[in-house]
Amino acid sequence: MLLLPAILWREIEERTRSALPLEACGFLIGRRRGEEFEVAALAPGRNVAREARTHFEIDALDVLAAEDGARDAGLEVLGVWHSHPRGPLSPSAADRGLEPAGRGGPGGTGARGDSRGKVKNRQGTAAGAPSQWLTVIVVPEGTCESESDGRGTREGSAGIRLGCWRRVGAHGFEPLSVGQPCQSRR
Ligand SMILES: [Zn+2]
Repeated sequence: MLLLPAILWREIEERTRSALPLEACGFLIGRRRGEEFEVAALAPGRNVAREARTHFEIDALDVLAAEDGARDAGLEVLGVWHSHPRGPLSPSAADRGLEPAGRGGPGGTGARGDSRGKVKNRQGTAAGAPSQWLTVIVVPEGTCESESDGRGTREGSAGIRLGCWRRVGAHGFEPLSVGQPCQSRR
């Protein structure tokens, strides 16, 4: 299970929304306890993809900074999250590593992937992101202007849907449930 505190859920939502119509992405930092992945912080990953509406590519420096920052805090990079601005809430064939690598950047490559492409590690090898990294996908819900209750309440946002997967085998993905740690703020 992925344990994601509510405050970090909201941060992912904000980053997803502020990036629209482009894909947002970043790192999940935390610790693993058995089958529980507890997210303690997010680390930024700038989407430097040239076609950022349908792709994401995280600069290699951001990968290094995330890994170094996690290590310094006694934590680890648990995975990468990215948004699918137009869905779906599931790993694409490319996210599963079933498609050839996308366009290469001019210099070093960071974590990389897209709605159609694939995640690559910082060496840009075809092996994909470190196999133990979780894949978290976020889909923004449409802006909600709820009038169904007759009061015309305008919601700031309708939230996001979020799913988590981990790799099994060469190209398999297995869903992980997502919850909140019991000490999270409500
Ligand atoms: Zn994707």
